[in-house]
Amino acid sequence: QIEPVQKIETKQYDADISQLMNLIVNAFYSKSEIFLRELLSNSSDALEKLRYESLIDNSVLDAERELKIKIWVEDKKLIVEDTGIGMTRDDLVNNLGTIAKSGTKKFLENVKKGDVDKKGDIEQIGQFGVGFYSSFLVADKVEVYTKHNSDNEYIWESSATESYTIRENPNPSLKRGTKIVLHIKEYDDEYLDLDNVKDIITRYTQYISFPIEMLEMKEVIDDNSDNELAVEEESAAEDATEDAKIEDVSDDEDEEDTKVKTKKVGEWNIINSQKPIWCRKTDDITKEEYNEFYKNLTDDSSDALAYKHFHAEGQLEFDCLLYIPERTPLDMFDQGKKKKNIKLYVKRIFIMDDCDDLIPEWLKFMKGVVDSHDIPLNVSRELLQQNHILRQVSKVIVKRSIELFNELAEDEDEEKYENFYDTYNKMLKLG
Ligand code: ADP
Repeated sequence: QIEPVQKIETKQYDADISQLMNLIVNAFYSKSEIFLRELLSNSSDALEKLRYESLIDNSVLDAERELKIKIWVEDKKLIVEDTGIGMTRDDLVNNLGTIAKSGTKKFLENVKKGDVDKKGDIEQIGQFGVGFYSSFLVADKVEVYTKHNSDNEYIWESSATESYTIRENPNPSLKRGTKIVLHIKEYDDEYLDLDNVKDIITRYTQYISFPIEMLEMKEVIDDNSDNELAVEEESAAEDATEDAKIEDVSDDEDEEDTKVKTKKVGEWNIINSQKPIWCRKTDDITKEEYNEFYKNLTDDSSDALAYKHFHAEGQLEFDCLLYIPERTPLDMFDQGKKKKNIKLYVKRIFIMDDCDDLIPEWLKFMKGVVDSHDIPLNVSRELLQQNHILRQVSKVIVKRSIELFNELAEDEDEEKYENFYDTYNKMLKLG
């Protein structure tokens, strides 16, 4: 059989992206771990998009019904894979390379301003819609394998120079979704340490509503006659790499008879709780958890100024979590850009994040999440916009926001209210 000739296309980055890459590659940045948050949030978005599509047409799930994220380490690579919507060849070109998004320039300007005291200049990368490139903070080469339902599997690859390549994968392996392979830089091997990676993920991503599975090594007694163990090894490491499978960790061969021999086997473990923070009881949630969720939601690097979490019952039932950012959100005055201040979920399923009816113009600095129990799941975006339920929810949001402002005014920490008023007084007057 003749192997098909593989067509590899090399493409130049848009100049802004090139510049962005240079900046990222050369950045010595102590909080490089944020790349994990960016990649996991992209995976979560991709899974949410697919789940939303499946409400309208269930057959989009046919290739793979399980919606999840997997993470493992292989040689010197850290790999993140999701079974989300994936990208077509065109998506790949558009999303990861040729066309710089409006945020690219803004991000560069923001970082160049060099406001050292305004911490988190690079950390805000996600706010500008270029979060994917933060992978190059820790990797000197990145491969993206991706499969969309309506296209073949493609590989995007770049070593952060002026260009990247795209080719069809001659040995496709994904049923659907995206696999990001990070070739970790020599001095960043902390990201090859699974315990460390797990620690970062649990800190950043408890809010992700899909299972995150991690291939962890477990020490077990090595007994060759024990078939059960052998089976466990095989199934656990089925999708993993050769070297992740078994590692002999017994060091003293001479004492074979007296010492129990152990070996390490891989085991896929779910490492997140998946219960969204807004569905939990307020008493059980710490301030840190609220702020961590806020940062994930908004890509802000500072804590929120204040928040309010409530459950509405009666005529309408919904969970709601509202935040006041400490600084004016970057996208607040961006006319062309869609406002993404309140994310709408229906029974924990993400529906949209640019719904105009959910919050009035003057409150568009607020960020948060609404999870409605009343809206039918399969309602279309267009119908949803006219949905009277949303307008009722909006009324409650306004009422509760004002309540929150009053609480701030009465707070012992007077500076907080002053800060709030200085930042948002124009909006309040408009209201
Ligand atoms: P943002 O996510 O803010 O749009 P990114 O630079 O992180 O910016 O990602 C750019 C785009 O690439 C995303 O909007 C999405 O369309 C696509 N993308 C990134 N990661 C994935 C993924 N895991 N699955 C599907 N699409 C993805």
